[in-house]
Amino acid sequence: MKRSEIEIVAWTRRDLLKFAAVAWAAPVFAQARAGAGQRGPAAQPGTQLVLLGTQGGPGVAANRTQSSNAVIVDGRPYLIDCGYGAIKAAVQAGLTLGTISNVFITHLHDDHTADIAALLALKWTATQNPGEATIYGPYGTTAMVDAAIAFSKANVEIRKIDEGRAVDPKTIFHGRDLAAPKITEVFKDDRVTVQAVENTHFPDRAKAQMNYRSFAYRFNTPTRSIVFSGDTTYSENLIELAQGADVFVCEVNGNGAGPNAPARGAAPANNNTESIARHVRETHSTPEEVGKMAAAAKVKTVVLSHQVGGGRGGNTDPLTADLKKVFSGEVIVGADQMRL
Ligand SMILES: [Zn+2]
Ligand SMILES: [Zn+2]
Repeated sequence: MKRSEIEIVAWTRRDLLKFAAVAWAAPVFAQARAGAGQRGPAAQPGTQLVLLGTQGGPGVAANRTQSSNAVIVDGRPYLIDCGYGAIKAAVQAGLTLGTISNVFITHLHDDHTADIAALLALKWTATQNPGEATIYGPYGTTAMVDAAIAFSKANVEIRKIDEGRAVDPKTIFHGRDLAAPKITEVFKDDRVTVQAVENTHFPDRAKAQMNYRSFAYRFNTPTRSIVFSGDTTYSENLIELAQGADVFVCEVNGNGAGPNAPARGAAPANNNTESIARHVRETHSTPEEVGKMAAAAKVKTVVLSHQVGGGRGGNTDPLTADLKKVFSGEVIVGADQMRL
């Protein structure tokens, strides 16, 4: 018998089980370790913006992530929106679940929230002693977080019995409903101050029938100011919030302007094409509207995200041509995993 054959035979069932356990646990322990030490690419000093997902709308694409951004201040990440794919994108960007403790949701459309349940479940499972996480957002956020915890009920019960875990997710994961009809400071720690204000994503006729609202956020750190428009059409509140900001991360709908423009980004559903098309026209920003808001707010740099329609490219890019006619500052067409 050759040596390699002896080695194969020598693998007992116990060895295989041991190997399987280590192979399964390795990435989990790596997550937990990195979370505790906050090492890795995210630990650089200063303020970084990472575009985790720049795709606009609720479609699922093979190579794009839905809305999500990370502001990383001296290695500590703050997540803004958490659409589908955000958690995988965060790990690709060098973040670890253990470090993600503060998440700010602009509004409760699913292209901004789909990975919340995944974040909480995976964060809880990653280590025996998961850290706390708070999800901030408009009305409905607390109920959504409670529902995300309920989604994991079976996982938690099984692992408590089978693996001796003791932490109750309800004691460490919290939702916080915020109100910000005017610019309001909603969060402050030793590294960042966060302000929120209602934008104009939801038309008045919809707001009259519901308590749900939609926010823009401004992050002020010792070295930078970064504003996230959220989903919105032209918004005076957003212009006020974004005054003089270093970076203005703004949504954009490049599918043509004006009330008669076809909303090619809107998928028909239940013969409801016109209703969805109207939603896209009335609740999102044309490139020209993005430029007008950026110019009025005198921001230094516009970063286009939540992109609907148009490709990336030069001056003829449908996302930027009309924008550059009204805004003379720097314009960056965002891409997933772009670090700014
Ligand atoms: Zn959206
Ligand atoms: Zn939306």
